[in-house]
Amino acid sequence: MTIKLDGKSVSENIFTKLKSHIALLASKPTLAVIIVGTNAASQVYVKNKIKACEKIGIISNHIHLDASVSQNDLLQMIESLNADHTINGILIQLPLPSHISEKKIIQAIHPKKDVDGFHYSNIGALSIGLPKFISCTPLGILTLLQHYSIEISQKHVVIVGRSNIVGKPLAMLLTNHDATVTLCHSKTPSLENFTTQADILISCVGKPNFITLSMVKEGAVVVDVGINRLDNGTLVGDVSYETVSKLASFITPVPGGVGPMTIASLMENTLKAYKIQTPCM
Ligand code: NDP
Repeated sequence: MTIKLDGKSVSENIFTKLKSHIALLASKPTLAVIIVGTNAASQVYVKNKIKACEKIGIISNHIHLDASVSQNDLLQMIESLNADHTINGILIQLPLPSHISEKKIIQAIHPKKDVDGFHYSNIGALSIGLPKFISCTPLGILTLLQHYSIEISQKHVVIVGRSNIVGKPLAMLLTNHDATVTLCHSKTPSLENFTTQADILISCVGKPNFITLSMVKEGAVVVDVGINRLDNGTLVGDVSYETVSKLASFITPVPGGVGPMTIASLMENTLKAYKIQTPCM
């Protein structure tokens, strides 16, 4: 029998715990959420993050900038948020318009306010096994696997997708948890030879129906990070869910799998940032 990894309900449990915890604090954690331009998917992601903040008692400071904002103006805004003691976390919704360097913007956020865990000092800390802020999607996946008592140690994890925000930090995180990790990407020859070896297969590619039945070992745990909108408006992941779910032992749905876990991790990281920055906690 295949078990659905229900990120929606696991994230709701996390929200409930965080809400009780935050209710006891003398002041409230505050998250600045910056969005540049009008990318439709980004607007939805930001709305969901702000909704989660409201649900658990985190104050969200929503900053919407015009797509024409200059890189310098955005850098100055981040500097002022870094210096503002009432702001605990800073999140910049990606992607940014092409005239702005995402790398420069991410590195401008103070590492103690980097609740997305993208700053090189946070990525570096993770790589040596001393994590501070762990990127939200990898952290959410780890929490989900642990919630269902899925063994990671000694397992072969195959990750397809090596982005700086998902695939690479996920590979480091699961290596730190004693998995043997294979990180695949678009230049990996004969991808199927790797994916069929996976005890835990994680797809973060961003292409619908990318992981098909023949790419999965019977009984594998399948985690689908992809979020793809079809022409008819339907939201799907990377995995051919109908067929693969018959073969897998555990599988995440899209929507309702990794997405809500990513938001839950963001809330956890924001509370963590608050605690680091608030004396006498
Ligand atoms: P990127 O586009 O940055 O990375 C995609 C990765 O997939 C790259 O490493 C690329 O390889 C690899 N890839 C592309 N084509 C192939 C192929 N034919 N064979 C093997 N590998 C391939 O995407 P992100 O990591 O930012 O996001 C991936 C997906 O996850 C998207 O759908 C995104 O929307 C979703 N996402 C979901 C989140 C959630 O909370 N559920 C959070 C973040 C992202 P190469 O490096 O060689 O180009």
